Amino acid sequence: MKVCSICGGQVERDKHPVTVPVPYEGEDQKITVRGFECERCADCGEMFLAPGESSSLLKAARDQLRRQEGLLTSEEIREISKRLRESYPKIEKVLGFGKNTIAPLATGDRIQSQSKDRLLRLISDPVIYRRAKKILKRVTSEKYQQ
Ligand SMILES: [Zn+2]
Repeated sequence: MKVCSICGGQVERDKHPVTVPVPYEGEDQKITVRGFECERCADCGEMFLAPGESSSLLKAARDQLRRQEGLLTSEEIREISKRLRESYPKIEKVLGFGKNTIAPLATGDRIQSQSKDRLLRLISDPVIYRRAKKILKRVTSEKYQQ
């Protein structure tokens, strides 16, 4: 049996709602992730997160904040790339995003701005994406020719 390092109570592994601050638009938003599995003291309520767990808690919280704000989730962003059969760097070039912009959004490490969200939504339709590529071809070929 694991013992709480704060109060000496009994530590149990269970699913709990966990509230974490998520930085968004210059403020910390308090986000509650429901059913998050981790170790917690049954007596004082202290949580004990393994390194990988705190990262997955934050990712879940960012996705929940995205849903609340009407933004694409990390999974939806991964699906767009799959649907278009296009790599993140290629999409970044077409849309004029900086390098390595989409990967952190797709893994849940960052939250996209409203404007990036809208562009990603627009090009999530393969027909629109192909048209956008044609329209922007001259710009992107000038700017990114190697
Ligand atoms: Zn305790």
